[in-house]
Amino acid sequence: MRMRHKPWAEDFLLAHAEIVSVDDARKGQMREWFNNDQPIHIEVGSGMGRFITEMAKAHPDINYIGIERDKNVMIRIVEKAVEQNIRNLRLLTLDAEHLADFFSPGEVDRVYLNFSDPWPKTRHAKRRLTHENFLKHYEKILKKDGEVHFKTDNQHLFEFSIESMSQYGMKLKNINLDLHTDEPEDNIRTEYEGKFSSKGFRINRLEAVF
Ligand code: SAM
Repeated sequence: MRMRHKPWAEDFLLAHAEIVSVDDARKGQMREWFNNDQPIHIEVGSGMGRFITEMAKAHPDINYIGIERDKNVMIRIVEKAVEQNIRNLRLLTLDAEHLADFFSPGEVDRVYLNFSDPWPKTRHAKRRLTHENFLKHYEKILKKDGEVHFKTDNQHLFEFSIESMSQYGMKLKNINLDLHTDEPEDNIRTEYEGKFSSKGFRINRLEAVF
């Protein structure tokens, strides 16, 4: 997702430090940030944040953390969270490769990956969020039996992810090659999901456990 550079992004995010972190100060402090013992679900690559904000509103008994490395995009999630006064949502401006610095081992109950960048060129495969280089971070921070839930319109990325996760030794379940035919009532469509579905792309989904 490309967003126009906003020179005021850093200042805007710093002004909302109660819900969004842009530096290392919150490392290892996720539990304390919420000040409760509710399960923690994270979304990696939250984009403009429709999914994570709607999930947080639908499940007040779960703590949600949106991870997004682009500050210009993160602004949009913060705006939603503030306008709607969502209390069980926190945000990290962070590259997923540093996840294990912020979360303790086994602290996270679920990881969501929604419409991750496909990085179609083979030489960029290591940047895909389902590459083993990222799976090893999810494995570390997820509790035993914690799940990765993945959705994408991109068939190549979906095939790559099935292979990558299987080769890593993950167990896959609930594989769906057309989520929107007979769409589950509780499915929350992300911004990209809405866009690609309306263009006629089929939506793929799977769940995976280490
Ligand atoms: N999940 C949203 C949706 O479905 O509408 C956004 C999808 S967009 C294609 C992918 C997002 O992931 C972008 O906003 C990008 O900045 C973010 N992203 C990509 N790689 C990332 C990484 N390594 N760490 C954190 N965020 C990342």
